[in-house]
Amino acid sequence: MKPRLFTPGPTPVPEETLLELAKPVTYHRAPEAKAILAEVSEDLKYVFQTTNPVFTLTSSGTGGMEAAVSNTLAADEKAILCTAGRWGERWRGILKAFGANIVAVEVPYGKAVTPEMLERALSTHPDAKAVFATLSETSTGVGHDLEAFGKLVAKTPALLVVDGISGLGAMECHVDKWNIDVCVTGSQKALMMPPGLAFVSVSGKAWRKIDSTPVRNFYFDLRRARKSLAESDTPFTPGHTLIRAQRVSLKKIRAEGIENLWARHARIASACRAGVQAMGLKVFAERPNNALTVIAVPQGVDGTATLKALEKKYGYKLADGQDTLKGTIWRLSHMGYTDAFDVLGALSAIELVLLDAGFKLEPGAGVSAFQKSYAAGK
Ligand SMILES: *Cc1c(COP(=O)(O)O)cnc(C)c1O
Repeated sequence: MKPRLFTPGPTPVPEETLLELAKPVTYHRAPEAKAILAEVSEDLKYVFQTTNPVFTLTSSGTGGMEAAVSNTLAADEKAILCTAGRWGERWRGILKAFGANIVAVEVPYGKAVTPEMLERALSTHPDAKAVFATLSETSTGVGHDLEAFGKLVAKTPALLVVDGISGLGAMECHVDKWNIDVCVTGSQKALMMPPGLAFVSVSGKAWRKIDSTPVRNFYFDLRRARKSLAESDTPFTPGHTLIRAQRVSLKKIRAEGIENLWARHARIASACRAGVQAMGLKVFAERPNNALTVIAVPQGVDGTATLKALEKKYGYKLADGQDTLKGTIWRLSHMGYTDAFDVLGALSAIELVLLDAGFKLEPGAGVSAFQKSYAAGK
């Protein structure tokens, strides 16, 4: 059986990147390693659409999130938390661990936090030091209107801190133009790499806050990282084999062009949603994003067992819902190194496994709707 990975992290990795990972390990302080880090940092600025520095941390995405919290907030400072799912809850967990005074703006899973809700929170809490939000809520498939959030937060002294893990590189996001002060992403979502690296951008406004906040960390101290990056270096031994491989995947993104990449994801995502609906299924997210499609498991179908059968019989690995959503949704990623024909195959396998489960549907209904939508898109 050919294994086919459709989980919203990790995602498939291009062959040329995998081959780079197979090369011998070099010394991380050698001029070549520094030159690669400098190049990767420049390409990351392009992906983030920022002129500010982007730091490469050797950790999973959560390490980047921890860096964002521990550098920008002193204990007991007020933080507005926008949460619409498990990854919003990840922000809450980190904020709690660092003793923040949390004001939560929360919505039920499947819904999006609206700019109006954030506007109310900002006017009720003018003393908030930062707003924590999620670009693509990978647990529900919701995308947030960060452009609108950015306009609101920019008018206040607060920082806008965004978890862009899974969103960045899959859906439109302009870190500078949208006034995002700190943006975090990880290597294993839309950036076509295995897990192991986190990337964090920091604006001038964020630096002013960071430089006036007591140091509460060591490994994730961004001031240390800033000093090192000025010399194309890192404070500690970086995962430089990963950085070298990330360079290859970033070059692929540059060659495609970020606008083309956003358009490709948008076209595949909307065709996928059309396919899902034509199969008689529902898209779970009220405001879906282009990184993944989250499908509500239909009545009478055992969600977890059907996903297992999909993998066992047809080789397609999708992700189940997490926590309270387990068994109720299926998460199908189409970010990164995934094309229209990969997703068409997945839809076709979902049709087959649903038919096996006794669900009534016309074989090819989803596939046909996908093709019609894709053909009409550009
Ligand atoms: C995957 C993901 C994370 C967690 O990242 P790790 O690399 O597992 O630490 C956080 N936020 C979002 C939105 C994600 O998709």
